[in-house]
Amino acid sequence: MTIEEDKRKFCEYCKQCGGKCCKGDKDSIIPLSRKEAEAIKKKYPEIKIELGRFGKGRMHFFRLNGDCLFLGEKGCVLEKKPINCEMFPLIALYRNGELEFYFDDSNHCPYTKDIQKLKDWKKETLELSKSGMKEWNEEEKLFFSALCEIIEKLKKA
Ligand code: SF4
Ligand code: SF4
Repeated sequence: MTIEEDKRKFCEYCKQCGGKCCKGDKDSIIPLSRKEAEAIKKKYPEIKIELGRFGKGRMHFFRLNGDCLFLGEKGCVLEKKPINCEMFPLIALYRNGELEFYFDDSNHCPYTKDIQKLKDWKKETLELSKSGMKEWNEEEKLFFSALCEIIEKLKKA
């Protein structure tokens, strides 16, 4: 699957950007639900999946160390991207037992302001994220939210 073929076809900006959010340093991680981690382990047993703790949160993840291992010439090669990747630049904070969705206004995505104007993208991505996250347990939501809070803080820095 390529950036052109997947749901990001709604987003011309991702094509122009070339996947900045798929590239990172050694501290960047891609969080995975248990189901996503199992699917990747099964198909790519050589990929190192770790289990991380963040406050009361706990979630699987793999590390970006430069370009993501799943980044091909034309985009992500995974059949099903992790929700974290599908939804970005949407992020989610877990407050009072509910996930609340926001756009990332930090400089992680150069086109956040433009992407948030794409109503179809927003509607579809919100639906997809909410439905995928129904399977997440409390610890996963807390972990993911803590990561997103860091992004929020960076935005204000
Ligand atoms: S979400 Fe933003 S950073 Fe990621 S590929 Fe699209 S434009 Fe680039
Ligand atoms: S899993 Fe796919 S979408 Fe997510 S960072 Fe890696 S290449 Fe990009």
